[in-house]
Amino acid sequence: MMSRLLGLAILAAAMNPAHDAGAAPPKPGRSAAPAVGKIEKTDAEWKRVLTADQYRILRRKGTEPAFTGAYWNQHGKGVYRCAGCGLELFDSGAKFESGTGWPSFTQPIESEQVETETDTSHGMRRTEVHCARCAAHLGHVFPDGPRPTGLRYCLNSASLDFRPS
Ligand SMILES: [Zn+2]
Repeated sequence: MMSRLLGLAILAAAMNPAHDAGAAPPKPGRSAAPAVGKIEKTDAEWKRVLTADQYRILRRKGTEPAFTGAYWNQHGKGVYRCAGCGLELFDSGAKFESGTGWPSFTQPIESEQVETETDTSHGMRRTEVHCARCAAHLGHVFPDGPRPTGLRYCLNSASLDFRPS
């Protein structure tokens, strides 16, 4: 009887070697964490750092009137950053003349830097685009753009901060 118990104990130890060998801490697995870290602020904090127009557009999904923003007719080379958090979102190389009065791009610099969601406001079904890092509303994306993507990211100038290169 004793020898059988001893045998089981040895077997158990053999099957679970880490148990006795000062088990190493579990390795952090590859989590499903987003590639872009999030920035979260309260409404009051956003109000402090944004202009009134920016707050209305970025945090309340507003839209600036066409042909009024700083960048619809901007043609210089550079990078358009998020006006909320500074994340580089769109390159001037992807900007095109859409005729809409809003700065328009075929694609973001990195696809994971912008996120989209369905927007059914104003009796329309559109795809809303926002910054992946601070969730600032940027505009909408439509499937009627030019090559190479066929997409038209129709953005508010107020959501962007152009840095010439
Ligand atoms: Zn942002």
